[in-house]
Amino acid sequence: MNSSPTRSPARQTVPLLDLKLQYASIRDEVLAVMARVCEQQAFILGPEVTALERAVAEYSGAAHGIGVSSGTDALLLALMAVDIGPGQEVLAPTFTFFATGGTIARTGAHPVFLDIDPVSYNLSPAAVRRFIADSCERRADGLYNRASGRRVTALMPVHLYGQCAEMDAFVEIARSHGLHLIEDAAQAIGAEDAGGARAGSRGDIGCFSFFPTKNLGAFGDAGLCTAQDPELAERMRVLRVHGGKPKYYHSLIGGNFRLDELQAAVLNIKLRHLDAWTAGRQRNAAQYDALFKAAALGDRVRTPIAPPRGRHIYNQYVIRVARRDELRAYLAEQGIGTEIYYPVPLHLQQCFAYLGGRAGDCPVAEAAARESLALPIFPELQPAQLEYVVDAIRRFHA
Ligand SMILES: *Cc1c(COP(=O)(O)O)cnc(C)c1O
Repeated sequence: MNSSPTRSPARQTVPLLDLKLQYASIRDEVLAVMARVCEQQAFILGPEVTALERAVAEYSGAAHGIGVSSGTDALLLALMAVDIGPGQEVLAPTFTFFATGGTIARTGAHPVFLDIDPVSYNLSPAAVRRFIADSCERRADGLYNRASGRRVTALMPVHLYGQCAEMDAFVEIARSHGLHLIEDAAQAIGAEDAGGARAGSRGDIGCFSFFPTKNLGAFGDAGLCTAQDPELAERMRVLRVHGGKPKYYHSLIGGNFRLDELQAAVLNIKLRHLDAWTAGRQRNAAQYDALFKAAALGDRVRTPIAPPRGRHIYNQYVIRVARRDELRAYLAEQGIGTEIYYPVPLHLQQCFAYLGGRAGDCPVAEAAARESLALPIFPELQPAQLEYVVDAIRRFHA
């Protein structure tokens, strides 16, 4: 057979994500542990949850883990634990999943959505510094937004797509301005920054999601908060159960943010496989990089740029293309699943119109929202499927 590069691979179906393959590889282990939990009939905050909390904290380089009901609830609990509320502002990237901004607003605080770095897609330290220098002033009790009169109390970077935000810069900014530092690590379990520190280990609190599409996914909703400080960890444990300690005696108003024992049992099994799955994603990313290079599409397709140091866990492999929506429709016709993360930056969401955000406020994020496209990257993909995806993108541009 002639396998010259001009010959296109045969038609295939390449879903964005297929969890059935992963499940097939761990089916017996998972069913056994779920059966054990069913026999125990203890479903709330049992030994599986405690084991998961320890394991994820250790995996992430944190002293404490607090299992919660979702990644969104992890963010909400973190904000509640450091007393974020009305009259305050929280700095966050505009280019992220909705929950980052939604949880800030739900506490009664005002989110301030700032622009991203064009290479990493993560919150831009320069944008944060510029906002503080141009719009804020230091008073005796903290940093204030001069125009709104509200106190700026927290900074919430997101480790988008599985790549750590610039934590050296954010730790320094948070320290020098007295801000709480909350990491949205929902997409980044096991990701490392340039210094080798893991997502969730450097902020006051790290927030993880185990939504099924994340690298470590439950069989439903689940999440976890990490912390280094024992008092903050204890505060989150209490807030997780309505703020009652002892039970039925409430010095705090919390919520029901509990993690199910069944979910924790599944996650404990899956965590043992996570590094192998991450290696699969990294292998796929490297193959995409090589295939795109060979396809010589020049500026028409920009592939993700991983930092030279650090550990990118590729929750997503996101390319940049000018005719993104046309390409996406073409790939769908070819049997290839893709997704847009995210089509509308938060400062332009209708529900946040009251914040006064305008088109043009965050040009880097707005361009990313127009041009980015996530390709299938899950670990079980076959090399021929990746070849097919890149060839389809080459044909679209031919
Ligand atoms: C998935 C995700 C969340 C929310 O997690 P859920 O478990 O779906 O509630 C928050 N932030 C980011 C960046 C996410 O990707």
